[in-house]
Amino acid sequence: MSVLVINSGSSSIKYKLINPSSGEEVASGLVERIGEETGHIKHEYGEKGREIDGPVPDHTVGMETVLSLFEEIGPSLTDGSIKAIGHRVVQGGKYFDGPALVDDSVEARIEQLCPLGPLHNPAHLIGIRVARRLLPNVPHVVVFDTAFFQSLPDEAATYAIDREIAEKHEIRRYGAHGTSHQYVSGRVSEILGRDDLRQIVLHIGNGASVSAVVNGSAVETSMGLTPLEGLVMGTRTGDIDPAVVFHLARTAGMDIDELDTLFNRGSGLKGLTGQNDMRAVRTLAAEGDENAIEALAVYAHRIVKYIGAYAAIMGGLDAITFTAGAGENDADLRADVIGRLAGFGVKINADLNAARSKEPRILSTPDSTVAVLVVPTNEELAIARQAMSLVE
Ligand code: ADP
Repeated sequence: MSVLVINSGSSSIKYKLINPSSGEEVASGLVERIGEETGHIKHEYGEKGREIDGPVPDHTVGMETVLSLFEEIGPSLTDGSIKAIGHRVVQGGKYFDGPALVDDSVEARIEQLCPLGPLHNPAHLIGIRVARRLLPNVPHVVVFDTAFFQSLPDEAATYAIDREIAEKHEIRRYGAHGTSHQYVSGRVSEILGRDDLRQIVLHIGNGASVSAVVNGSAVETSMGLTPLEGLVMGTRTGDIDPAVVFHLARTAGMDIDELDTLFNRGSGLKGLTGQNDMRAVRTLAAEGDENAIEALAVYAHRIVKYIGAYAAIMGGLDAITFTAGAGENDADLRADVIGRLAGFGVKINADLNAARSKEPRILSTPDSTVAVLVVPTNEELAIARQAMSLVE
């Protein structure tokens, strides 16, 4: 019994075949550089695998090749063992507070939401359409990055902008990375053996976001209308005075597309140091690069600012959890962030923090006022489980 999880991007398709009960990853692969001169396809099934280099003109050809690799190398998708296909979708707007079975009307909704998720939804839609056509006998389920944050109270989701304009253009805070925040906060409850928790989850990857979760429901999150708001990220500004847009348009003559590219792709760590990858920034800082040293401080400062705000909003705090690429692997970042909270009695054990592990673990000392954990995220497993529970 398995679920095929598909993440279709503008030039790539990533997939994993997962057993939703055991969490076992049966097979996985990716198609990269779709539409470019040279593409790349990789499929892995246990010890077996295949890599193909050559042009992949479009998503249809990419998916067709993947399906033939499943039949050739295994495991077969046509023997009835796959129960569902789970598609990741970034923007579900106000319409989806959980997974949805794909039919034409759900597809139309995702299409209608493209203006709110211009970087992602069009690519998801292509993947969904191709997969539905090629695998018509399996239920397709969409799992939205925004769904977990539909529970945000209005006071957290509302921007103070003209109501009519906001309503007409569906401007509010939708959040993102919700599948990860939901999965990780759920794991924290299991690990600590309690549901009544006021939690902060720090998803720190290339994209980065923080959420506040009370008794399993999200009450705040740092990403907003789009994933641009909030923390400093690999290439995104995070929070910035919107007047910077007016200022650059007027004084530097930049147009909207240039500003979009600057804010989404040329800012964050990349803008401050020339590097978007946290490891590269740490290396620069270790070599004494002043810009990198400052960028790391700006990065940690922003995280701590959100922790303080979210603790205040929740009226207290029981657990802080780090997840995603840097959150799971960057002990220096965790030490820096938690070190800044020493005045509140938050403490971690330095050895536990430095130990490398892929397991969920508690880092805080027994006398820490707040539990501090690392919980590896697993968005694909979360998608597989949500898809399975819907079709069951
Ligand atoms: P995304 O899914 O958003 O692309 P990931 O969750 O894979 O990103 O996280 C990528 C980030 O994690 C990169 O900035 C990378 O440098 C950082 N990262 C991964 N391993 C380490 C490490 N050992 N130390 C510091 N940063 C790390």
